Amino acid sequence: MVCIMEALEGDKELWPRLHKLEPRSASDEDLARCHGTRLVDYIHEMCEREERFIDMDTVISAQSYEVARMAAGAAVVAVDAVMGGEVDNAFALVRPPGLHAMPDRAMGFCLFNNAAIAARYAQTHYGLERVLIIDWDVHHGNGTQDIFYRDPSVYYFSTHQYPYYPGTGSKSETGEGKGEGFTLNIPLSEGTSAASHREAFTRALNLIEEKLPPDLIVISAGFDSRRGDPLGGLLLEDADFAEMTKEVIDLADRHASGRIVSVLEGGYNLQTLGETVRTHIATLAGGHG
Ligand SMILES: [Zn+2]
Repeated sequence: MVCIMEALEGDKELWPRLHKLEPRSASDEDLARCHGTRLVDYIHEMCEREERFIDMDTVISAQSYEVARMAAGAAVVAVDAVMGGEVDNAFALVRPPGLHAMPDRAMGFCLFNNAAIAARYAQTHYGLERVLIIDWDVHHGNGTQDIFYRDPSVYYFSTHQYPYYPGTGSKSETGEGKGEGFTLNIPLSEGTSAASHREAFTRALNLIEEKLPPDLIVISAGFDSRRGDPLGGLLLEDADFAEMTKEVIDLADRHASGRIVSVLEGGYNLQTLGETVRTHIATLAGGHG
């Protein structure tokens, strides 16, 4: 977070142009649209007891419960700002990430599923019929997929390294029941070139545009798919994220009045993360890359 704030504040052209939004804590209803109360209570209790681990990967502290609620709430505030026309798009600079959080299980650094909570909130509060979640984190967003697997009103699209943590995200996972055909997984082997990665991304967006032109796009913006990330083996560069961001903007302009809510997920190379996020935000803001 510090490295991202430094990169943003250090951009003397961009920083003053950004509209800063105040986060709030997600309400019980916001959480309940995606998570069972048992999970919410469990995380609350674990933090109160000052436990250290939810699972082997997922470290918590006494503050994690409140922080995770703020992270989800920030994504909700971003939806309000975008839907209210205050801004065209918004970026929720939050941790913990959310993409692995299942309805009843926290895992993989994630407690609550921020992007999913934002999507559901947008549907409930603003009556949106079709939300597209684009997940470019290096890991498959098993939690997000699970939450919307049987739901044709939220399209979940993920590119990710495969096979890899958490093990899901094969091509054959395409949704179930009414949701069949509204989940699209593009598994990429470790070391896939940025060019092939980008081609697959563009092809997928074209497919999705025909299947479900969205009213709102939520980006599960994980930057551990960048070259050099200690947890990832994919090879995207900052310029690739800028181009992908532009493609998403074009899609949003065509169908969703430009509405995009981008939510930070992974990204663990602290030498590069700040600049990568700055590039993404600068592209969203329509400024210099
Ligand atoms: Zn990740």
